[in-house]
Amino acid sequence: MRHTARQTRENRTITVDFQNEATYFQLLGNGKAFVECVLAFLLALGFQLAHKATCRGGGCLTRHSHYARVRLGDLTIWRLQCTACKAVFTVLPHFVLRYRSMRPDVARDALLATHGGLSLELCAVLYHLSPMALYRLVCAFGHQSLVVVLTRCGLPLPVYFLADEKHSRCLTDKVYLPTVVSGRVLWHLGYTGEASAAAFTESYRVFQRAAVHQEPSYRVKGVLIDGFDSTTKSMRTLFPGARLGFCLRHALLKLPKKLVAITSPVRKALRTQFHTLLYRARQRKGLRVFALGQRLRHFVDHVTTTAGAANGQRVRRWFQDKKTGWYAVLADPQMPATSTLLDQAHNTIERKLFAMKGFHHPGGSQQAFLTGLAHLYNLVPYQRRAQHAGQCGVEVEGGIVPTRDWFLNVQILTSGGFR
Ligand SMILES: [Zn+2]
Repeated sequence: MRHTARQTRENRTITVDFQNEATYFQLLGNGKAFVECVLAFLLALGFQLAHKATCRGGGCLTRHSHYARVRLGDLTIWRLQCTACKAVFTVLPHFVLRYRSMRPDVARDALLATHGGLSLELCAVLYHLSPMALYRLVCAFGHQSLVVVLTRCGLPLPVYFLADEKHSRCLTDKVYLPTVVSGRVLWHLGYTGEASAAAFTESYRVFQRAAVHQEPSYRVKGVLIDGFDSTTKSMRTLFPGARLGFCLRHALLKLPKKLVAITSPVRKALRTQFHTLLYRARQRKGLRVFALGQRLRHFVDHVTTTAGAANGQRVRRWFQDKKTGWYAVLADPQMPATSTLLDQAHNTIERKLFAMKGFHHPGGSQQAFLTGLAHLYNLVPYQRRAQHAGQCGVEVEGGIVPTRDWFLNVQILTSGGFR
């Protein structure tokens, strides 16, 4: 079973919540009731099954066959076939992980610990697993794309988003993780060995293709980036009509580095004034861009007076370089103004990769592993405060998850048989 099913034909596995194991075993004796239970579950989810492209829908499911899974004792798994297109769906009860002998309750705890930053090795010790089994489990979830899972939760494709690359290491090589974030949700987490525009374009194209596949009319209105050349070029290639803005918080952090050979209080005062300038520019509704140009010129004069001509010159050149990106942020009130949420996502992923150095090897399934981690980032509840208590990133952004159980949600949403 294991070998024939792997990648050779389309994965049409669906995870179905039977509430408890006893119900499942009772239903095994009654094919009709079993199919009805599966159909009721599908109806409650509001999901369609991934029939073959030729299927005109309306094809109903019948009991097709069943077989025993020896690896899990004598558990019987059912397969259902569409009478119209003959597509076969493997129904996996909620208490079984696809191709894995690991119990979901063990997997749940181990993944939560992994998500919390504990290394695969220590999670494995804690839960009596092999670290490789846990690694493969994360990879298995990562075979389903982020765009597919997020749109299954009803989230609209992001019209505005943040894009940046996390710098990381694979043994001694530098690697980069091109990332797309909107609010608290990761839409893309790629992996490249180079920082070239071509490499980034190839990675971000995976997101763009998946999005256009979901919605052919998908258009991006604005992207916030840090202004790095390769990122800028890749965004221009993939989303030609989008505004490209530069993060205002990065601008604030950069200013002090442009001011040399002055006392700390003068530097701090200038930074505060620059902060006020950007803040006020954002507050002004109509003429925000015009107001910013004028204020930047005044600010350069002010720097020249208080910190000398050399500093004034340096800040002027820097403004020349960056102001188009700041204008882009201010010209559209819906543009994100800071990349804070992207930095948070990167910090979370960085902690995990740091804890998992042993598995970050050149021959590994980096892309699947990273996507799996990103699913956890999106679907593990993290909010403890009143407004969004107990919610995951998807819910905080307005999406709907199938059940109240995050791990079951991961199982259901990454199933290949849903559409
Ligand atoms: Zn069909």
